[in-house]
Amino acid sequence: MSAIKKFSHYIDGKWITPKGYEGELIVNPATEEVIGELVYGTKDETRLAISVAKETFKKWSQVSIPKRGRYLFELHHLLLENKEVLANLITLENGKSFSESMGEVQRGIENVEHAASIVNLMMGDSLANAASDIEVTNYRYPLGVVGCITPFNFPMMVPFWLFPMAIATGNTVVLKPSEKTPLLIEKMMTLIEKTGIPNGVVNVVNGSHEVVNELLENPEIKAVSFVGSKKAGEYVYKKATANLKRVQVMAGANNHVIILKDANLDKAVFELINASFGSAGERCMAAAVIAVENDIADLFVAKYTSAAKKLVLGNGLKEGVFLGPVIRKEAKERIFAAIQTGVEEGASLLLDGRKKGLNTSGYFIGPTIFDHVTSSMSIWEQELFAPIACITRINSLKEGVDLANSSEFANGACLFTNNTSAVRYFREKIDAGMLGINLGVPAPLAWFAFSGWKNSFFGDLHANGKDAVEFYTHRKVMTARYAEDDL
Ligand code: NAD
Repeated sequence: MSAIKKFSHYIDGKWITPKGYEGELIVNPATEEVIGELVYGTKDETRLAISVAKETFKKWSQVSIPKRGRYLFELHHLLLENKEVLANLITLENGKSFSESMGEVQRGIENVEHAASIVNLMMGDSLANAASDIEVTNYRYPLGVVGCITPFNFPMMVPFWLFPMAIATGNTVVLKPSEKTPLLIEKMMTLIEKTGIPNGVVNVVNGSHEVVNELLENPEIKAVSFVGSKKAGEYVYKKATANLKRVQVMAGANNHVIILKDANLDKAVFELINASFGSAGERCMAAAVIAVENDIADLFVAKYTSAAKKLVLGNGLKEGVFLGPVIRKEAKERIFAAIQTGVEEGASLLLDGRKKGLNTSGYFIGPTIFDHVTSSMSIWEQELFAPIACITRINSLKEGVDLANSSEFANGACLFTNNTSAVRYFREKIDAGMLGINLGVPAPLAWFAFSGWKNSFFGDLHANGKDAVEFYTHRKVMTARYAEDDL
């Protein structure tokens, strides 16, 4: 029998065998086969990574900005060459379909494209004639060591939201990926090695709470980027700010969709099938709650349910599969219980995904649709993170917007309509940071900030876009007198 694969940390360009005692098995969620074993990193291992990153920062921050950009071009090239390999690893460890994994890899690559244009992004502003003989100039500098903590649902895209821009701006990084999905990151480090990016610029410590706590407490960590659930995000934000760190927390979500009676229903169905059930609903931009105007609600429900019934469930590596498994047995059990709660709360269960998930190996749940959901139900209020869509019926756009605005979350929101005045009303009144018009909840491209509001985000500067440059740098503003009298 071959020995079980063990995952290592990656510190200072070396693969380090973890010394801890606790850990977990890494399982392919489609087959329940064990891929390997991940031993949680310890405080000491995290401290080692931080001290290496601190030492490396002295030199890396002095590497010219165009040269840092060129390293990212090299990474871009290697990612393009390895697209299929990377997508395969994502499906293997996360379960999403191969085509979704390819989409995720593409999103990661776009983040590297954004970071590679760092020269333009780092330029400061100056004012030649601020006062008589006075010039003012703004210079950007990196912060130091940045801690990045990421979730399981996008093993590639989310780490790529963070570390490329952190290092392009001149920082060094200690990354703690999700303890459930270490495969993609392991491959990523082998690619980073090939770019020539110096050892110690990007370090990975696998693990769980102990690693996170060290990143939140260690005075050498100058900024923390976190992506994950609201519960963990709140903890991270409070602890890191209490330790006087710069923090950005992209947290949980429960996204709202509004469909007006003038919308093209077939197009709305097409978009929302993907947005509700793609990645088995394990997306912070999943279309979880769909509010439909009464006049067209029955027709929408019929078309949507019929389309959902046709979705192919299975191992994401197989051709034609749309819906893969959820991440773990515990997630499946939690979702089964949530469906039961929805029934007990009085929602109409039109499509019960539990049936397709019974007696299967792999953590499968079919698409699930509830109709007549109300905002007093827990299935409306909570982030289910599941292939579950909750339909609610509304009389007007205003009612739909007010309903969505009563949610504690405000990540994405969508409107389906051909009425431009409705679009404007929606844009002005909805409490959400990322809007879609006639599109399933769209995650903004790398060049725009990932802009959650309310309990979907804690902090002020978001990931991606120009915010990322602001978050990972601080400024010096120099005011100088250059007087003609001194000539
Ligand atoms: P999670 O919060 O369980 O884990 C995220 C990270 O935090 C992991 O690295 C984990 O090890 C760590 N962590 C978890 N609990 C912790 C604790 N108590 N103390 C210290 N560290 C802890 O999230 P997940 O289940 O991996 O991912 C799903 C969640 O992520 C969903 O809520 C989803 O909405 C959210 N998410 C949000 C965004 C966004 O941009 N807003 C993007 C992707 C995912």
